Amino acid sequence: MPYRYEAPVSQTLFDRASLVTPGGVNSPVRAFRAVGGTPRFMVSGTGPYLTDADGREYVDLVCSWGPMILGHSHPEVIAAVQEAVARGTSFGTPGEGEVALAEEIVARVEPVEQVRLVSSGTEATMSAIRLARGFTGRAKVVKFAGCYHGHVDALLAAAGSGVATFGLPDTPGVTGAQAGDTIVLPYNDLEAVREAFAAQPGEIACVITEASPGNMGVVPPLDGFNAGLKELCAANGALYISDEVMTGFRTSKAGWFGVDGVRPDLMTFGKVMGGGFPAAAFGGRADVMAHLAPAGPVYQAGTLSGNPIATAAGLAQLRLLDDAAYAKVDAVSAEIRGLVGEALAKEGVAHVVQAASNMFSVFFTDRPVRNYEDAKQQEAFRFTAFFHSLLSRGVYLPPSAFESWFVSTAHDTQAVERIAAALPAAARAASEATA
Ligand code: PLP
Repeated sequence: MPYRYEAPVSQTLFDRASLVTPGGVNSPVRAFRAVGGTPRFMVSGTGPYLTDADGREYVDLVCSWGPMILGHSHPEVIAAVQEAVARGTSFGTPGEGEVALAEEIVARVEPVEQVRLVSSGTEATMSAIRLARGFTGRAKVVKFAGCYHGHVDALLAAAGSGVATFGLPDTPGVTGAQAGDTIVLPYNDLEAVREAFAAQPGEIACVITEASPGNMGVVPPLDGFNAGLKELCAANGALYISDEVMTGFRTSKAGWFGVDGVRPDLMTFGKVMGGGFPAAAFGGRADVMAHLAPAGPVYQAGTLSGNPIATAAGLAQLRLLDDAAYAKVDAVSAEIRGLVGEALAKEGVAHVVQAASNMFSVFFTDRPVRNYEDAKQQEAFRFTAFFHSLLSRGVYLPPSAFESWFVSTAHDTQAVERIAAALPAAARAASEATA
């Protein structure tokens, strides 16, 4: 039977989980709903490898959906965490770790003059939107179809990631009032943004975009798209918010800003900056950030914001991410992309591999993917076959055709060889798959 190779301990855990947790998972993208089969319950991670509850080892191409850019259990990150945890787990007061992490972010990402730490990417984008609305005194928000900014009510319209994976049109529970001020436009279409500003003069508070989208698969901005957004926002008194939760500190030392140099008014961060712990942030222009409580009237808060263990992990990770580390991640990403493309081409499988620095994904289509509509045209059933073939051979991909793949500095020759050995059969499975 397809996809029914043995994972008895994971299956037992999943059965237990399904009784007490909706769908058996604490985040929908972890379920295997889009690809079928039993989600693997992982028990440990070392370098580029994950080990599941059945004792099987996988080369990990998810890296916790981005954060683990140094691989799993990096000794210096673990040591920083152990040192921090020995001093206590949460104080509910300011602490030096928060200051040091904020300083590191400000030093790396030039448009960030001030930054506020939060605990998740969702909180970061939610707070940035609130701040943009408070600052401009306007209500409307422009977002792009296929971009995911966390499960913020107003931003779930036509969202990517799990919303795309499960083909959800819009989410019940989000009221018309909450979504009514959200304008959803096609990605990479500056004309649509121009028209939206023209149709609603003085009403749009901000445009929020993934700096380089990874939540409909990897769909980089066309040349001039981000610069055009910035220009249109500036011309119309709106703020340009670049969501770098996924790209931040991953696509370069200064994230996607380090790649395209377009200067946002506000930016959001998460994933890599937490070193595998719940830490995220939003920041940007000092005059805008000055509107945030307690300096200003826009309220935002968090019991565990700037948690000492999360900040210690994040800081340890960021300090290890120098130019050499990024060069290493970029190189291994290019190598794996080459191998995947080669294997699929050999089997005559129509595909495009798209990359944004070291983030990449494979679309099973013969045309470049520029927006969410293009992404949906791919033959996702081929991904399903490809995914399961790799999984059965010890390579763990995101369980969806609409997600980025992630690698780390720990993905060494041995890990790449394991992927290379698994690819021919996976490409054959993709070629033989039927809808
Ligand atoms: N923004 C982007 C671009 C993301 O990729 C994500 C998560 O994948 C989020 C926001 C939400 O972050 P979190 O899952 O930490 O709430």
